[in-house]
Amino acid sequence: MHNSVKRCTHCVLSENFPRIEFDEKGVCNFCREELFHSTEKSYIEEATVAISEMLNKEKGQSEYDAIVCYSGGKDSTLTLKLAVEKYKLKVLSFTLENGFTSPEANKNIERVVSALGVDHITFRPSKKFMRDLYKVSSIYEIYNKKTLTRISANCNSCISIVNNTALKYALEKNVPFILSGFTLGQIPLNAIYYTTNYAFLKESRKNTMDKLTALLGDDVDKYMGINDKIIEGVKKYPVNINILCLESYTEKEIIDEILPLGWVPPKDVDGCSSNCRINAFNNYVHERKYGYSPYELELSHLIRKNLLSREEALSKLLDQPMDQIKYAMQDLKIDESQLQKFNS
Ligand SMILES: [Zn+2]
Repeated sequence: MHNSVKRCTHCVLSENFPRIEFDEKGVCNFCREELFHSTEKSYIEEATVAISEMLNKEKGQSEYDAIVCYSGGKDSTLTLKLAVEKYKLKVLSFTLENGFTSPEANKNIERVVSALGVDHITFRPSKKFMRDLYKVSSIYEIYNKKTLTRISANCNSCISIVNNTALKYALEKNVPFILSGFTLGQIPLNAIYYTTNYAFLKESRKNTMDKLTALLGDDVDKYMGINDKIIEGVKKYPVNINILCLESYTEKEIIDEILPLGWVPPKDVDGCSSNCRINAFNNYVHERKYGYSPYELELSHLIRKNLLSREEALSKLLDQPMDQIKYAMQDLKIDESQLQKFNS
């Protein structure tokens, strides 16, 4: 993104972010909403108690207490560590190999699951499907604009498969919890912990699934849906928990926690990712379409919580290596004219 874009003088939200307004000092309305902070603090306190009670009640009832969605990035690495060492859960760590994982991130996964001594499974959907999914998510308008204030379309597509696959495994193996490494800013407060009711989810995303199926065929349901017969037999759904939302770590503190597990920062990713080589391209498409980065909200939230400096956030936003973007475009066989053609 261009350096010249006008941004809030306190956080990094830019003038193109939906519903943004600046006061005479250049501070945005999101920063000014003081109420937001106190609501968040008390919600987190309540969630901390509720989650700890839930975990203690269900622990030890099944083969695994929790499935941890593990991308190999820094946040999910810390999530996995906390699940094992702080919450003492029997976990099954699960990675979705999307075809763009940095080789160093794959080594990180290997080293970390060994160091923590947890069982691990990887699911790798067909490369063709993943390419096609990323391609149509880049070119067409698949998701609603509100969703896209927090996440790029491609990340959202990928995470839909992660969530769906984790839910499938949890239902199959009777696992009561699914843990993910999202932080506030990436997700809203009411997603710190929640129960997925598949029938309700299916209804709410019908539009999206119809659009994707029209473009990609029945494989969409195979990777992003669950068979009706399985759903009919469900007695209880697992609870999804994002335990990092209860913590206050700076990036340096996260790295210090995970380095002893053998985690090494990958060099072939952009400033906003610590595992994925398609992320720079995802951000590029998002910025072209909407004029702002899908990471602005998350980074701004970290700034307001004093967990990241504005300078650090800006350098992350500006670190979008062109070679990574080109690499993804070549792999997906997508060119500038397609992005222009479909978005004009
Ligand atoms: Zn602001």
